[in-house]
Amino acid sequence: MDRPSSLTRRRFVQASGAAVGVTAASACATTRSAGTGDRAIPAGATTARTYTPDRFDPWIELDRAAWAHNVREAARLAGGRPILAVVKNNAYGLGDRAVGPLLAGMSEVGGLAAVRVEEALAMREEGVTKPIVVMAEGSEDEIEEMARQDVLPSVWLDDAPARLRNVSRRLGRPVPVHLFIDTGMNREGMPYTRAGHWIEELVQSEYADVNGTYTMFTHDLDFDREQHARFEELLGWARSRNLPLGTLHAAPTFELFHLPEAHYDMVRPGNALFGNPPGDEKASGMGDFKPVFSVKTRVVRVEHLEPGDSAGFNRTFMPERATWVALLPVGRTDGYPSQANGTCEVLINGRLYPVAGGVNSAHAILDIGPEKTVEVGDVATLIGSDHPAVLPHTVAERTELGFLRIIQGMNPRLPRRVV
Ligand SMILES: *Cc1c(COP(=O)(O)O)cnc(C)c1O
Repeated sequence: MDRPSSLTRRRFVQASGAAVGVTAASACATTRSAGTGDRAIPAGATTARTYTPDRFDPWIELDRAAWAHNVREAARLAGGRPILAVVKNNAYGLGDRAVGPLLAGMSEVGGLAAVRVEEALAMREEGVTKPIVVMAEGSEDEIEEMARQDVLPSVWLDDAPARLRNVSRRLGRPVPVHLFIDTGMNREGMPYTRAGHWIEELVQSEYADVNGTYTMFTHDLDFDREQHARFEELLGWARSRNLPLGTLHAAPTFELFHLPEAHYDMVRPGNALFGNPPGDEKASGMGDFKPVFSVKTRVVRVEHLEPGDSAGFNRTFMPERATWVALLPVGRTDGYPSQANGTCEVLINGRLYPVAGGVNSAHAILDIGPEKTVEVGDVATLIGSDHPAVLPHTVAERTELGFLRIIQGMNPRLPRRVV
């Protein structure tokens, strides 16, 4: 593929960012699908996935200052410990190629955590040099690839020693890994009840280099304490046998707020950094976490309707009075949910307009009212921080989808623009 090397592109992007405010990795969201034949743009073309100031089609803005603020708040709650920033699931939908380098550039962030090998490799490609942990088991080939790209795999299966031994032979060196211990969530991890021998084998082996050890909590605070005690018991046992376990980490967002004894060497939040701290009263009083992204597009048509006219499929919108409607080229495919019709508003030039004519696959129709107050080309904010009505949490509530389903639904192809 004839795309520029990431270094060249980074330089280019930094240089052009100074001029037009475009920075970071917008170029990349669709790299994986380029050339698969499912889009009209030829492989290697970058036009469709790069933000250009005159585009109508939607894009996502990442607010660098808000991310930095949330990172500082998280670090404060963690007593200054470094943050292992979780950017799994394509950075919860916001785009790991953009969010990864953005977070990795902050001094409070000690490393990044992903769940898929591709995510980790994508962030390395984008120039992230800090440690990246993949919080998933991998095949031998995947572990080898991670080791070659300086990515830390997690292990927890009984046969992990055998796989690591094979990979280490291929590499000619020990494989750096993190050990994931299950203290009762019964999702991932080596069960703490039979972890002892397994840990001993790995720590004492020639083929593995235990760089870190961690567990995951259930967010049931009473049971969290029990999990913490189980983890502590295992750590105490390892200490008594002089088995070094590397960097210890355990606390995702909920326990960052509610279980300080589990902060260990690093904390491991995702949600809080993304502007989604726990909703309880105690947590609300502990820190101030800001929205970090906007979804924007430009008005592509403005039309006048008379009584009797309608807009949208099945004549969704039938105004009783003359009114103007505006068409936005954004829809479900982009991640703007159909539930926004009749419930959400969109901000244009500081005023709110209701979504009234339906949210289709790629279009949404707004009711502008009797005055023509918007023009073709005006920027429309569907989700953002400039008005309470478009906050991510407001859209999440009004659509009854919840914060994570809103951000996880963002189309990876939308250009990401760091502002
Ligand atoms: C998702 C995840 C996190 C981060 O959780 P948040 O609730 O987003 O802070 C941390 N650790 C593991 C193992 C996870 O799967």
